[in-house]
Amino acid sequence: MPDVDFDDTPDEAAYRARVRDLLAEHAADLVHLDAGEEAGDAAEQEQALRRTQRVLADAGLVGVAWAAEHGGQAGSLAQQAIVGQELARARVPALINHIGLGMCGPTVVAHGTPEQHERYLARLLRADDVWCQLFSEPASGSDLAALRTTAVRDGEDWVVNGQKVWTTLAHVADFGILLTRTDPGKPKHAGLTMFVVDMHAPGVTVRPLRQMGGQSDFNEVFFDDVRIPDSERLGEPGEGWRVALTTLLNERVAVGGGGNDLGLSVESLARLAAAKLPGLTPERRVLARQAIGRAAVAALGNRYTGYRRLTAISQGGLPGPEASAGKLAGTAASRLVSDAGVRLLGDDAVFAVGTGDDGTGEDGAGRWQRNQAWLPGIAIAGGTDEVLRNIIGERVLGLPPEPREDKHRPFDAGSRA
Ligand SMILES: Cc1cc2nc3c(=O)[nH]c(=O)nc-3n(C[C@H](O)[C@H](O)[C@H](O)COP(=O)(O)OP(=O)(O)OC[C@H]3O[C@@H](n4cnc5c(N)ncnc54)[C@H](O)[C@@H]3O)c2cc1C
Repeated sequence: MPDVDFDDTPDEAAYRARVRDLLAEHAADLVHLDAGEEAGDAAEQEQALRRTQRVLADAGLVGVAWAAEHGGQAGSLAQQAIVGQELARARVPALINHIGLGMCGPTVVAHGTPEQHERYLARLLRADDVWCQLFSEPASGSDLAALRTTAVRDGEDWVVNGQKVWTTLAHVADFGILLTRTDPGKPKHAGLTMFVVDMHAPGVTVRPLRQMGGQSDFNEVFFDDVRIPDSERLGEPGEGWRVALTTLLNERVAVGGGGNDLGLSVESLARLAAAKLPGLTPERRVLARQAIGRAAVAALGNRYTGYRRLTAISQGGLPGPEASAGKLAGTAASRLVSDAGVRLLGDDAVFAVGTGDDGTGEDGAGRWQRNQAWLPGIAIAGGTDEVLRNIIGERVLGLPPEPREDKHRPFDAGSRA
């Protein structure tokens, strides 16, 4: 079998054709990147995105690789990847419940009770409920196991107090998976417990954060005496780290392709270059061409590494080290593409707003501008570049591990020496 197979198998080709037909059939009911996903106010955009996911779910294009008993299509990971590619090709934006689909849902599947499966999974697939992931705190991001939000048992409930931050989608979410400390006397990884939390419960306060690109994708979330029934626990008390590892592994695979949400690819860059290069001075043209070349090499290298991953999946394997390196390389490639685009646009990139991707429309530079402001966050979300390099150094290259002197000490004895 080849390491990299660029061609669909006959079955995959037939599946791809069916997906294209379904997307064409439902095109009028889907939010479309070029048709202005910015249209309407925030509430209208949210409803349009929920509707889009519902239409796709009802057409069998969401949860493709999920088991039928969980509301999925029982398809292959390769089929799921094909749907992802065809949605990008049809310029449908990221599904609103992408955190639920990529991270929370698989965690509920792996660690939830049959009642939790029944209660949550089908609704998650249709975006009837939107989910968020409540892990990071002001003093624990990379060092997640140092988190301080507590859950204390009280009868049939747990009472939660603390603060989370950077919680993507919390402002629209109905449920979240919440990692808490339930036993501060144990070492930091051992005293954690995971719950499903109702984001509309009394005592939950969500405060959106404004990003430098102008949008508010993530939030601070405060928990003041929030009661969670024990039946909403995911996994055993004290097993929260093991449950969280399921989430984090799925997160790496979900974001492993890198890339960006705004539909800007090396093809978008080529369209922009065709429009803008002739108008540049010879000096700027040389610099722009070099930036385009660097970006194209990085983006295509990343894409072909993605095909290697897809080939392995299609042949029944699991993603290997290239999945953990994928996010790092994808982020770097996206930044080079964005830098080259901004270089081509010059001053227009500073002032424009809008939705076109070729820079030639009424306000086509806007998406490049927003993308440029959004990408630094991608180098942080789901594991920072530095932390990913540590992981690759330790687990892929076998280099000596970082010193972790607080790993075995009780958490309440202080997490730092
Ligand atoms: C766009 C975006 C979306 C997010 N969505 C969510 C979400 O939905 N839910 C959620 O729970 N969290 C979310 N996060 C938070 C994200 O997981 C954390 O920001 C990330 O883990 C880094 O943690 P931190 O911000 O506390 O930075 P820190 O961990 O404090 O890191 C600060 C700096 O130190 C470096 N550093 C830290 N440790 C090491 C080390 N051991 N070796 C070398 N360098 C190191 C980091 O690379 C970074 O440059 C999101 C973040 C972003 C930007």
